[in-house]
Amino acid sequence: MNKYIQYCAKLCSLAVISLLFAGKAHAWGPIGHRVIGEIASNHLSEKAKKGVASLIGRETLAMISNWPDFIKSDTTNKYNHTSKWHYVDFTGNISRAEFEKELRAMKGENLYTQLLSMSQQLKNPSISKEKKVEALKWLVHLVGDLHQPLHVGRDEDQGGNKIQIFWFDRPSNLHRLWDEHLIEFQQYSYTEYTKILDIAPATQVKSYQAGTIIDWLYESHILSDKVYARTRTRKN
Ligand SMILES: [Zn+2]
Repeated sequence: MNKYIQYCAKLCSLAVISLLFAGKAHAWGPIGHRVIGEIASNHLSEKAKKGVASLIGRETLAMISNWPDFIKSDTTNKYNHTSKWHYVDFTGNISRAEFEKELRAMKGENLYTQLLSMSQQLKNPSISKEKKVEALKWLVHLVGDLHQPLHVGRDEDQGGNKIQIFWFDRPSNLHRLWDEHLIEFQQYSYTEYTKILDIAPATQVKSYQAGTIIDWLYESHILSDKVYARTRTRKN
């Protein structure tokens, strides 16, 4: 698990309540997202720090990182269209070339299209501050989701949501195991987790930061293949 969250640390340059949404969990629980936000804060350039502060003042990336999950409870249905933004599903065990082909052939909004969109909005000088604050909240959150392997898992089982498992003696599903159970098992606070995980040497951080969004997505997808391969499903 620790090794897994370390993958999240690679996103430092860019700046997990798993909700059951219509029976489908969509995100790291709050701790996972805060850890990723905090690690990102630790590695921002001076310019990026200023840019973030100009948008969210004294708030931190950890503090804003769960907002895209909180809005799922909005009773006005204003954000219903964003439920597909938290993940992007593929076929299992595919090559990088096949992965990119599937990604290019996808229609509609997903984790990848929205990461691009939020990045563009943050760079666009003609967009309001209010919109940019929202884009930053999405960016921090989606970069976190991208590093939960089952957010880049398989379409056939809704990223592990349809795979029933037991976590100790409690019935659960594979997606939720990765969103919450594994993280909560350690009983660390998000600041403790951050200290434990944010240990990559500078050269390693640099190589993480050099990756593209597609590099990160494919890496998560490969990890999801390993998760699926090692999962024994629950027999009811
Ligand atoms: Zn999410």
